[in-house]
Amino acid sequence: MRKQNTLQKEIRFEGIGLHTGNKVSLILKPAPVNTGVVFIYNDQKVKEFLPLSIDFVTDTKNNITLNNGRAIIKTIEHLTSALYALKIDNCIVEINGKEVPIMDGSSKIFVDEILKAGIVEQNELKPEFVVINPIWVRHEDKFIVVLPYNGLKINYTISFPNSPIGTQNCTFDFSTEKYIKEISQARTFGFLEDIDEYTKQGLILGANFENVHVFSKKENKCVNGSRYDDEPVRHKILDLIGALALLPFELKGYIISYKGGHHIDTMFIKKVIELYKADFKASIPTKREIKYNYLFDFLDNNIQ
Ligand SMILES: [Zn+2]
Repeated sequence: MRKQNTLQKEIRFEGIGLHTGNKVSLILKPAPVNTGVVFIYNDQKVKEFLPLSIDFVTDTKNNITLNNGRAIIKTIEHLTSALYALKIDNCIVEINGKEVPIMDGSSKIFVDEILKAGIVEQNELKPEFVVINPIWVRHEDKFIVVLPYNGLKINYTISFPNSPIGTQNCTFDFSTEKYIKEISQARTFGFLEDIDEYTKQGLILGANFENVHVFSKKENKCVNGSRYDDEPVRHKILDLIGALALLPFELKGYIISYKGGHHIDTMFIKKVIELYKADFKASIPTKREIKYNYLFDFLDNNIQ
């Protein structure tokens, strides 16, 4: 097991939400051991904290949303992917709007700024779950399975027939260094032909050519260049790592995802937590048991 980590200092990000299109600022702050990642929604009128936990995930349509019934924070997954990959276990994420800014559509800017700010090792171990028996979930024609492996490896397949993306498969043997080079720059992607449908549903109101990797089905090509030959499947690996951040431990295993996405990713997280609890008879703090007192003190002392 490794030690827990936090940030050396605060980091501020400004940007727009991919789905809401609204301007938002976000500040990452260092936090003591065993805090986990805790979002604080603070729009001057409402102050609410939402721990990064599967218990607070309510919406997985085109993004992962946290919701505690009084505040909502959408599209957390690219930020949490950067935090999981850089092993930032304890961190306060203060946000003044309903959606994490999309930045360039990948996790690159979060990664770059965290590395610039510095990472501090803390004096407590990070729990881990080493997979011994296969765990799987299925939904429609999709599945995710995790097999025993001494590390974290991901094999991912996506399939978009009759489009310039087609079928892509990528195997990624995780290390932080490889994540930075091979995954962190992969942007969220979409098709020009789908824009009307999504905007009718109130989605992707902040999307543009600077924050989405755009494909045209009609012209059978990518419209705004590629950062990797197989950028879409690498982005899906980025998203899956963002979902792994919902686990209260580090996962060691070989994950195979076939046509995965936010919905089945969160089903998988629930199943892994269930089996971890059963295997170890361990108790994981639920939303009722989380140390609210510490967080209320933190709100009073640190948030104006
Ligand atoms: Zn994504």
